[in-house]
Amino acid sequence: MRLITALILVIFSASVVLAQEFDFTTTEQIAEFEKKAYKSALESQLNTLIYRNYFDVTKQIIDIEVEPGIQFIEGTITTEFNLLESGYSTIVLNCHDSLRISEAKIEGAPVNYTQGEDLLNIKFGTELEVNKKYRLELKYEGIPPETRAFSSDTNSYGDSVLWTLSEPYGAKDWWPCKQDLQDKIEDLELRVTVPAKYKVAANGLLESVAPVGNSKLKYIWKHQYPIVTYLVAFAVSDYVVVNEVLQLEEGPMNFVNYIYPQDTAEALADLKEFKNTMQLFEKLFGPYPFRKEQYGHAQFSWGGGMEHQTMSFMVNFKHGLVAHELAHQWFGDMVTCGTWKDLWLNESFATYCDGLTYDFLFNEGAWENWKNITIDLITSAPGGSVNIPDTSDVDRMFSGRLTYRKGSYVLHMLRYKMGDTAFFKAIRDYLEDEKHNYGFARTEDLIWHLKANGGYKIDEFFNDWFYAQGFPIYELQWHQTDKGKLHLVLNQEQSYIWEGVFFDMEVPIQIVDDATDTTLVIDHTESGQEIILDWELPVRAVFLDPKRWILKCKESKVTQLDYEIDEVAYKIAPNPIQNELNLLFSKPILPELDIAIYDLMGNVIFQEKINTRISQKQLTIDTSTLLNGAYALTVKDYWKKTSLKFIKVKGN
Ligand SMILES: [Zn+2]
Repeated sequence: MRLITALILVIFSASVVLAQEFDFTTTEQIAEFEKKAYKSALESQLNTLIYRNYFDVTKQIIDIEVEPGIQFIEGTITTEFNLLESGYSTIVLNCHDSLRISEAKIEGAPVNYTQGEDLLNIKFGTELEVNKKYRLELKYEGIPPETRAFSSDTNSYGDSVLWTLSEPYGAKDWWPCKQDLQDKIEDLELRVTVPAKYKVAANGLLESVAPVGNSKLKYIWKHQYPIVTYLVAFAVSDYVVVNEVLQLEEGPMNFVNYIYPQDTAEALADLKEFKNTMQLFEKLFGPYPFRKEQYGHAQFSWGGGMEHQTMSFMVNFKHGLVAHELAHQWFGDMVTCGTWKDLWLNESFATYCDGLTYDFLFNEGAWENWKNITIDLITSAPGGSVNIPDTSDVDRMFSGRLTYRKGSYVLHMLRYKMGDTAFFKAIRDYLEDEKHNYGFARTEDLIWHLKANGGYKIDEFFNDWFYAQGFPIYELQWHQTDKGKLHLVLNQEQSYIWEGVFFDMEVPIQIVDDATDTTLVIDHTESGQEIILDWELPVRAVFLDPKRWILKCKESKVTQLDYEIDEVAYKIAPNPIQNELNLLFSKPILPELDIAIYDLMGNVIFQEKINTRISQKQLTIDTSTLLNGAYALTVKDYWKKTSLKFIKVKGN
């Protein structure tokens, strides 16, 4: 109930927002960017290590010294961990071979280690104890590889900037870490020493800035929420820092922006919708997940954006990108995809949340445009599923058309199927489920909550719309008789014919007559599905899914069938017949044909009322039991009765 009230309030206040121009191609830029980041990381590590989750990292302190413009890092990584399983005397961390460890200590005492194949083996000599906290210190330095995980260069203004972007496998390129989708770091500290003219942005809260000699400053950032390794990040540049306290319904919240000095005015102008966006997401999905700390942006110099936990890195501050990365704080950061195959749980939600801002915060035109453009892009090719069949195909994995856009429309359709109240409750339940809240979720976890909130035929829905390729092409045919009946027939073909899937969906149909405007829903389970309604007033127009709830081919159409008296001609072909009689119609006809077969003596041999479909153009009657000979067939339709002769031969 609280949700509904909130939504009404938002819709009401949205009416005062003026028309605005949006760049709806942001999603493609984001997808392209994220793909590049992933690809370079993947290529740099041919063998992705998937190892057993036998130890739990509870705390890490990254204490490093860097300088923008110089591709070099040195420092100390302190890792606290517990062993989860017995029988191990070695801990394996991910660490690029170009980073050289100069010292390793456990509880202050030196331990042996080896490096190779981008792995760091810490050898303790004796078996570690289960559930005891260990503290490992690693001193290291090196030149991080040019994979974009650690980029120290200049921005478009020629100013030095240094930033990290580790998704998915790049963290090891700049620090020894445990890089997987199984373990989150509960407590993180980033201590970054830089020349005094720079500022450092990172995860969590800035605790202190202190001089450390040589005209250098040490920035200490602390983050005390679970964080997956690929979201740990920092950025360094000569930033302008803009701090703001947002007054939100959930309470005040710090919002901080690290912006290039040249871009400050434009960035702040672009961020004017930010507060409303945050307010909307908090209403729909619950309080911002890292509320005890803050949210912020740090500008960086490549591609689009990256949803680093509590501090998204942004190429600019345009609304679509801002909304996408903010949504990731719930979808991707608090609840992280449990495998890369579940990447849509991050990206489809972030894409749809961008769409939701147009629905709830802006005028109807912006929302219609978003849906229209999204459908255009998805249907620009006939095949493709949201499901990622192969995560080694990086282009497919980060497909803006499928993992981002088609997934976002699947969510939009689920919202229609379930209604706003149940849909948003299911999403909130999914986010808040303690099984994966601040942890990792799989697609099955989302499906479970959709079903638990009354989702109808959810497995069938996922089979058709998530796993299968393509989309439906609809044709809605309608005809109103002068006897006050409205006939509707909904046909469906598929864009990707090789899969043979039928897209089950509840399809809204709008019917407008002189006095009423009615929307009814056809639970579409087969092509040619027909509905006959009593409808006295002349129907002026019929629309198929006018509000674009369904992903469908743009060639989908509505056809009004016109009938004139006596225009349908019937024919039996072939004639003579054998075991089957084929009755052909010159045009599609209205349902309910009275059919009878008489022998030469005038005896009724067969009589049946047959319901045909409007699209149907022939009818087959089993005549295997008829004796050989001559017969008459009468067919009575809506207007007239027709008599035809035929001969039965052989077959008996
Ligand atoms: Zn994204």
